[in-house]
Amino acid sequence: MNTYASFYQRSIHERDAFWAEQAELIDWQVKPTQICDYSKPPFAHWFVDGTTNLCHNAVDRHVKDRADQAALIYVSTETGQEVTYSFAQLHDEVQRMAAILQSLGVKQGDRVLIYLPMIAEAAFAMLACVRIGAIHSVVFGGFASHSLATRIDDATPVLVISADAGSRGGKVVPYKPLLDEAITLSQHKPKAVLMVDRGLTPFTSVPGRDHDYAGLREQHMNAQVPCVWLDAAHPSYTLYTSGTTGKPKGVQRDTAGYTVALAASMQHIFEGQAGQVYFSTSDIGWVVGHSYIIYGPLIAGMATLMYEGLPTRPHGGVWWELVEKYKVTHMFSAPTAVRVLKKQDPALLSKYDISSLKALYLAGEPLDEPTAQWIAEGLGKPIIDNYWQTETGWPILTVANGVQTMASKFGSPGVPMYGFNVKLLDDNSGEELTGAQEKGVVVIEGPLPPGCLQTLWGDDERFVKTYWQSVPGKLVYSTFDWGVRDEDGYFYILGRTDDVINVAGHRLGTREIEESISSHPNVAEVAVVGVADALKGQAAMAFVVAKDASALVDSAARLKLEGEIMKLVDSQLGAVARPSRVLFLSLLPKTRSGKLLRRAIQAVCENRDPGDLTTIDDPTPLHQIKEQLA
Ligand code: AMP
Repeated sequence: MNTYASFYQRSIHERDAFWAEQAELIDWQVKPTQICDYSKPPFAHWFVDGTTNLCHNAVDRHVKDRADQAALIYVSTETGQEVTYSFAQLHDEVQRMAAILQSLGVKQGDRVLIYLPMIAEAAFAMLACVRIGAIHSVVFGGFASHSLATRIDDATPVLVISADAGSRGGKVVPYKPLLDEAITLSQHKPKAVLMVDRGLTPFTSVPGRDHDYAGLREQHMNAQVPCVWLDAAHPSYTLYTSGTTGKPKGVQRDTAGYTVALAASMQHIFEGQAGQVYFSTSDIGWVVGHSYIIYGPLIAGMATLMYEGLPTRPHGGVWWELVEKYKVTHMFSAPTAVRVLKKQDPALLSKYDISSLKALYLAGEPLDEPTAQWIAEGLGKPIIDNYWQTETGWPILTVANGVQTMASKFGSPGVPMYGFNVKLLDDNSGEELTGAQEKGVVVIEGPLPPGCLQTLWGDDERFVKTYWQSVPGKLVYSTFDWGVRDEDGYFYILGRTDDVINVAGHRLGTREIEESISSHPNVAEVAVVGVADALKGQAAMAFVVAKDASALVDSAARLKLEGEIMKLVDSQLGAVARPSRVLFLSLLPKTRSGKLLRRAIQAVCENRDPGDLTTIDDPTPLHQIKEQLA
């Protein structure tokens, strides 16, 4: 098994034997009796009857051999904090946190919502949850009260863990008022809130509900909370992501499949070894943060560098300075971050000794060639694109250099990873496209490999309906991405088939933003469209028809309404979802049958030909867009 082609083929055609071997990479309390039960498609049950624990594999098992080696390196350029936790120290902190969770009534199967900035306690909290079989649901700190409330109602947590504030670019960003408002808005009321007081901003506590982390930690300094051996299929966590409808989807992951999948990816994709240092610049609120800040590197016995701060502060070389200081071997980031760095002095790329670094992995959005070339030349290191989704938990397409050294092609994330039976389907006929350069929807034939979503939290039916379709003889999972494959089997991703947009690597549903804007009293109708942006890949632009046009008499009035709408989105969804511009139209461009012409709007904004407009009801709004952009 020395070529990737045979490795891949085996993963598909001798699926169970292949994954039985991967399962050897982790510790089990009881080994599985069956590798994959796919008797109820599309539900895949991996490692049936096995029992294991994610925290055991990430922390406890390393204490034996590398107690004093670094496990978690925490760096905040916002607060100036820099702490390294060895595996033994991480083990202690996680047990303290687990004891606190238990003291607050958290039991196996309970949900714990984590709404925290990038602080070490967030890592302790996630690991403590999976240690005792509680199901964490991390909500990105950039989300505001309305987004948080929807997630609280869906996850129905017994406990929320939060902090007084985050910090961004030296500015304190309070969290507690948003959390309090979210709990007021939500139907479900969590029994307890655990507050990490960073001393960044004062906050009010709700007596009886809110508890102080530092105080409770003191009480549990010597806590010993053993890992609970969990059934392979026990949910480890849920993570909400956007789709076509306004209601976010709770992607649910299992325990054993996820642990095996990450352990395998650390070996075959990232070639990570115990003692090395992994630095992912993502946030724990996203899937990359789950898989490759917390679990993946720790499972491999590597140290993980967790960073709070901007890539440009206190200077544009701060990441490379950290690579030098901590001898980082693997780095993972997003194209947007590289485009931000591109505006800095290129000399910063060669100012520090980054000889420890083996490769820079990029994911989350299309990697454009100029950006890839710029960073490849500047660093003199391999740049490895990888394509995946919140749903899959680990890369679908990339190159598996841990199996066989493989060439990267600029513009392509690579080839299907082992376990992912990737196909292209013709959008109209639903038939498989097998030729090179044929454009189709990227789908994955079931079963999805270990580590992918088991279902959507509390909604099996939505899971089936949203993602799965029958093609003759099989069920396939849709990625909702367009793609083509070249003669060598490399895939190219051409954008989403649905109304999901990707702003700076953040996945946003246009419908959610539209719903938020619609709640402004002077908005009659709104469309949110993703428009090409040189820095963020895409930017969200809003097109609004006002109820009372007298509010738009002059540019000052328009600016005022635009400002109100942006503030509304900020307060409901969070700044990540804020449109870059709001344009006011007398009506939205629609077909005579009332269908919104999103692509035409997008084309006009991107200065492209809007194409065939014979079905348009009234072209006036497209002219209005052109005028306002000019
Ligand atoms: P998320 O679930 O937030 O990770 O977003 C997943 C979506 O981001 C995918 O469906 C793609 O549309 C896009 N995406 C992720 N990685 C890449 C990549 N390497 N190249 C192109 N698009 C990507």
